[in-house]
Amino acid sequence: MEVIETIDEMKRLRQQLAEPVGFVPTMGYLHKGHLALVKRARAENISVVVSIFVNPIQFGPREDFAKYPCNLEHDLALLEKEQADIVFMPSADEMYPPQFNSWVEVGKLTERLEGASRPGHFRGVTTVVAKLFNIVQPTRAYFGQKDAQQLVVIKKMVADLNMNLEIVAVPTMREPDGLAMSSRNTYLNPEQRRAAVVLYQALNLAQQLWSQGERDAERLHREMTALIHKEPLATIDYVSVADAQTLDELNRVKSPTLVSLAVKIGKTRLIDNVVLE
Ligand code: AMP
Repeated sequence: MEVIETIDEMKRLRQQLAEPVGFVPTMGYLHKGHLALVKRARAENISVVVSIFVNPIQFGPREDFAKYPCNLEHDLALLEKEQADIVFMPSADEMYPPQFNSWVEVGKLTERLEGASRPGHFRGVTTVVAKLFNIVQPTRAYFGQKDAQQLVVIKKMVADLNMNLEIVAVPTMREPDGLAMSSRNTYLNPEQRRAAVVLYQALNLAQQLWSQGERDAERLHREMTALIHKEPLATIDYVSVADAQTLDELNRVKSPTLVSLAVKIGKTRLIDNVVLE
């Protein structure tokens, strides 16, 4: 496994990689969710590149960029075990030199949900992902269903800008109690960690109602909200019942519907989702 820290070196090594090339972009502090993406990339490609880059431009001014968790030694050991070929870890200074002034922006889809709560977030995501795609030139790139809106936005960017690669969605990996794995779970103290399961419980409730034939989106919304309100440590940012492709809010639930939510547990903002189909 080669650890590469400069863009030139990554481009040079890319010429020597056997095709197809699978690529997994991450912000590090890896857990089993990230590793599920790497395993899938390993299974479907001859070469596997993983990037670790905490992308400053996708964080808002009051968000957790400065304290985003990091454990490089552990990350590299995990990636070695998963037989990644290259770990690409560029510096923020090289990715965004002082004269940097170009942006990739996907319209409409990015105005709602995470985009509404985190202005500028998706512009940062699509800009860095476009840059990484240009540098790594993967055959396929792997993204987690955990960040459902990100997946929809990236697929849209790739289609609209005729980018020459395939986007592969990987199911959400969960802790035994159902909490979606996330690097940010590390911020939770034991009491908050227990409370955080409420996100999964609310999604489960929506899934159950859907399975029983409920098609009124307002009812799903109401029941989920009521359940989360019972958890004193939880504050709802949004609960959404939306078309899985357009992300338009629905009155009637249909297949496929994206049920997603963002909930603060203490100061930690967690997101999760389920697709009803
Ligand atoms: P991050 O390091 O948070 O930027 O995540 C890197 C990639 O891992 C993204 O495509 C995420 O959607 C994906 N990911 C994060 N958590 C999970 C999870 N619990 N299950 C599956 N994929 C995940």
